[in-house]
Amino acid sequence: MLNKTKCLEKLNLPTPFIVGPVNIYLIKGDALTLVDTGPKTKEATEVLVEALKQHGYSVNDIDQIILTHHHPDHAGLIEDVFPNATVIGHKKCQPWLKKEKHFLTFVENYIAKFYSEHGVSDEIVDEMVTKNRYYLSFTGNRGLDINVCEGDKIDGVQGWTVIETPGHAQSHISLYNEKDGLLIGGDHIIEHISSNALLEPPYVKGESRPQTLLQYRDSLQKCLNLNIRKVFSGHGKNVENIEVLLNKRFQEQEEKAKRLKLMLPKEGITSFDLCKSYFAHIYKKEPTLTMSEIIGHLDLLEDRKIIETVNSNGKTFYTCKGN
Ligand SMILES: [Zn+2]
Repeated sequence: MLNKTKCLEKLNLPTPFIVGPVNIYLIKGDALTLVDTGPKTKEATEVLVEALKQHGYSVNDIDQIILTHHHPDHAGLIEDVFPNATVIGHKKCQPWLKKEKHFLTFVENYIAKFYSEHGVSDEIVDEMVTKNRYYLSFTGNRGLDINVCEGDKIDGVQGWTVIETPGHAQSHISLYNEKDGLLIGGDHIIEHISSNALLEPPYVKGESRPQTLLQYRDSLQKCLNLNIRKVFSGHGKNVENIEVLLNKRFQEQEEKAKRLKLMLPKEGITSFDLCKSYFAHIYKKEPTLTMSEIIGHLDLLEDRKIIETVNSNGKTFYTCKGN
């Protein structure tokens, strides 16, 4: 039986983001492993160095880093603080971490076109692109050394298996310890907030965008089907009863979808106009998060054939089926 107090330590680091502090994990296996690193900030680096010191280590002792996903609060310090550690993650982290120019240009162009079609004003689209660049500035500029995918075991962290949990991010993986019923869940499962199934462009040009909320729900269901008795989350407390929490999340999604359906006028509406009504007080401040929420739940209704989209004058309108 894994002795958690000896083998797995939670370190809590500050972030400059709305989500608050991030949890990263130290696994003391055959290799000294960090799961996630915190953002690229002076404050996070200082807290991390001190936390490692308290466990008797320095940054140079870290053999490898496993990234749950590419977001800056999780993947920030791979370049500057751990230049010699092996970096491991899902291959979809790669273009973000290496800041591949052609990929990031494609992302920005996709965002601009997509949100414009969904009725977002040019001014807010520009803000979304700018904010995206700002977030990216908190990740290290360094690629992965090892790609992992569903079912992989990672050398040096005996007992943990990679499971793919896309939805919050396309690159998202979790680490599952079947024997002890544990999951290191990154941003996939968080107790105090519902994870946002952030919209992302397709990774391959010409493919359709992933329907991130549907994916996210599949990844939640996948976890319900496993023997998980405790989740070590990327933010907040450990989750002790995932069945209760995840069923609550499913319920919240159903209620949100129901509310949105009732808000659809007969003549149709763009997702941005819906977003302005639904998130009246925060859509301006958090356009990417709120639009991801709205489109995700519209995807859910569309997938169930309750609503449909109509394209007119270069814009996408949502309407109840049969109107
Ligand atoms: Zn995240």
